[in-house]
Amino acid sequence: MDYLQIKKILPKGVNLLAVSKGFHSSDIEYFQSLGQLDFGESKVQEAIRKPVFRGNNNLKWHFIGRIQSNKIRKIVENFDYIHSVDSYKNLLKISEVAIELQKMPNVFIQIKLALDPAKAGLNYSELIENWYQIKQIKGIHIIGLMTINPKGLSAKKNFELFNKCRLIADKLNLPHCSMGMSNDWQEAVKAGATWIRIGSLIFGKRYS
Ligand SMILES: *Cc1c(COP(=O)(O)O)cnc(C)c1O
Repeated sequence: MDYLQIKKILPKGVNLLAVSKGFHSSDIEYFQSLGQLDFGESKVQEAIRKPVFRGNNNLKWHFIGRIQSNKIRKIVENFDYIHSVDSYKNLLKISEVAIELQKMPNVFIQIKLALDPAKAGLNYSELIENWYQIKQIKGIHIIGLMTINPKGLSAKKNFELFNKCRLIADKLNLPHCSMGMSNDWQEAVKAGATWIRIGSLIFGKRYS
């Protein structure tokens, strides 16, 4: 399935984030010419090196990578959305920098729904137990939850985990769920994703 076919079948309210990590400015501009405005990057340095990142004011940039605290300032300076906030501590740091820079980033809290040592995120009880404090944090818009499923699950299991994410978001009154990648986006859409993050399926094989 290619970009335009995916766009055509996505239900209303489901946004496609084109994950451009490992791809060049010219690739990004090609998808912009098809109407794509939201792009996701997972490394700050790689993103800001791309000419299109600095020069193209029509695009919206989403940070989707692991957050290192010494990169938070650069992330808040350069990105409109942050999908991968994986701790209360980082939420506070992002808030502090955002207030200082007078930015209001849209933030997703990354949650971990399956035991997976490779993935970051708050687990369910950390999120629920800290929710009252999290809600008080100023300077950021917490718009939803983000999750990454472990690799190699069945479609049924992928759907179940995505469905859990949707139920938790609903319980907390959060409109957005950022979930689903090239190989599991259809289950994510069925479960109520509002942002799917697609890289290789539309761009092809990464250069790096
Ligand atoms: C790379 C990445 C994606 C996109 O992965 P594909 O398999 O290329 O679609 C989505 N989300 C995150 C967090 C990523 O790091």
